Amino acid sequence: MSDDCIFCQIIDGDIPARTVYETDETLAFLDANPLAEGHTLVIPKTHARQLQDLDDETATAVYETLHRLVPVVEGTVGADGSNVAFNNGPAAGQEIPHVHGHIIPRFEGDGGRPVHAVAGSPPKLSEEDLDTIAGEIKSNA
Ligand code: AMP
Ligand code: ZN
Repeated sequence: MSDDCIFCQIIDGDIPARTVYETDETLAFLDANPLAEGHTLVIPKTHARQLQDLDDETATAVYETLHRLVPVVEGTVGADGSNVAFNNGPAAGQEIPHVHGHIIPRFEGDGGRPVHAVAGSPPKLSEEDLDTIAGEIKSNA
């Protein structure tokens, strides 16, 4: 629990939310400023700022809840698909510093963009650059 965290306050019942699903480790509720009908957030019940701050068990629990809810949310609002994403860190647009996965229903012809649209200016990388980056990530993983 973080006293000044809005999502911790939702978990504690101090701020109202439209809860749609709950487990021992996770809570799912409607986004208050939905980008689409059914826009849902999934959060761990323990405070953590970013994905890398979650322990393995909690990370798994968050994914399990997302996995369960994606077809439920899509089906409920009659969506044709969804974007499922985390804004991980302020540089990536994370405004609430408590891990949350977005389920954003998508509809054919809704005018929205794919997740590829989030990067500012994609770098031009050579095959060698890609080999180097892949090797470094592999050795750090
Ligand atoms: P992010 O930019 O990934 O941190 O997104 C935070 C999301 O939380 C935004 O989509 C907000 O609309 C949503 N949000 C902020 N406050 C609340 C709240 N009290 N209840 C539900 N959703 C909220
Ligand atoms: Zn919190």
